[in-house]
Amino acid sequence: MEDCIFCKIANGEIPSSYVYETENVYVINDIAPKAKHHMLVIPKKHYKDLTEVDNVALLAELMSVVKEVTKKIGLKEYRVMINNGKSAGQEVFHLHIHILANQ
Ligand code: 5GP
Ligand code: ZN
Repeated sequence: MEDCIFCKIANGEIPSSYVYETENVYVINDIAPKAKHHMLVIPKKHYKDLTEVDNVALLAELMSVVKEVTKKIGLKEYRVMINNGKSAGQEVFHLHIHILANQ
C-alpha cells in the first residue's frame, strides 16, 4: 500500500534493522524502543490490523515467528502486544505485533 511505512520497509524502499524473516513475515527493531528489547513482527502483506486477517495460516506464522525470534535471541520473559485501532493506541496502520522485554 502506498504511503505505508511498513510496506515500504517490506519492499526494501526504506532501510531498517532486520532481525529475522520468513516467507510472509519480517521482524525489525522498533525505531523508538520502549523496553530493552523492542521488536515488531510484521506481515509483508498489508493488513490494517488484526480484524482484517482471515488467513489462519498467516496468524499461525506470525505467532510462530514470535516464538522463533525470542528463542533465537534467548528471551524467556517478554510481553506481546497488538494495538488494533486508534483508540487502542495504534499509530501505524499496518498490522504488527510488539515484542517487549527487559530481560
Ligand atoms: P503502534 O502504536 O502502531 O502499535 O506502534 C507503532 C510502532 O512502530 C511504534 O512503536 C513506533 O516506534 C514504530 N515505528 C514507527 N515508524 C517506524 C519506522 O520507520 N521504523 C521502525 N523500525 N519502527 C517504527
Ligand atoms: Zn502496509
